[in-house]
Amino acid sequence: MASHLANIFGTEQDRVNCSFYYKIGACRHGDRCSRKHIKPPFSQTILLPNVYHNPANDPSCKLGEKELQDGFDAVYEDLYCELCKFGHLLELHVCDNVGDHLIGNVYARYEWETEAQAAVDNLNERWYAGRPLYAELSPVTDFREACCRQNENGECNRGGFCNFMHLRLASKDLTSSLRAGQRLERRLNPPKTDGGQGGWQPGQRKSRNGRSASPSWAKGGEERRR
Ligand SMILES: [Zn+2]
Ligand SMILES: [Zn+2]
Repeated sequence: MASHLANIFGTEQDRVNCSFYYKIGACRHGDRCSRKHIKPPFSQTILLPNVYHNPANDPSCKLGEKELQDGFDAVYEDLYCELCKFGHLLELHVCDNVGDHLIGNVYARYEWETEAQAAVDNLNERWYAGRPLYAELSPVTDFREACCRQNENGECNRGGFCNFMHLRLASKDLTSSLRAGQRLERRLNPPKTDGGQGGWQPGQRKSRNGRSASPSWAKGGEERRR
């Protein structure tokens, strides 16, 4: 029985735990869901809900494809550079969905749970683009599972209201240069230990050498870091 429950945990057959919350970190029923949303006590993944506001969702938006992509790339770069400060950032994803529970959601996955916890603690006291940030540990582990496959093939007929992630992708050159930048930074300034045993405190380490967030980022990210 116990192993049966373990096998169905967080799947559609699980009548207790919500499969949407477990897989995608967000469910359209929110707190009113009839199934449980169990917040993980430890996770490598964090969720920052409703951070990216896509100007294309405004009916009066007159920006072209190129301008929209440039604007998104700027936001992605901003987030990546900031989130890297808390540890080894393995993945950064931004949702392009428009339903209330997924709109503008940002997910980041770190190598270590301690890094994700440090990011949550720090970001909950921060602002981005003039709005306070809210951060939480998320149960999402596999973004392949969380993303809508039909959307990847251009075939999802639910569009932005889909309950699986539709990701907004940053330009390829940008993502590869950000990854290369992180690798170089970690080679030049290696973390004191590899973090897994809770042996270092990313937040304290950063603030001691003055590399905590710049006030401009806290006010709204208008100053770009290159
Ligand atoms: Zn639910
Ligand atoms: Zn979809």
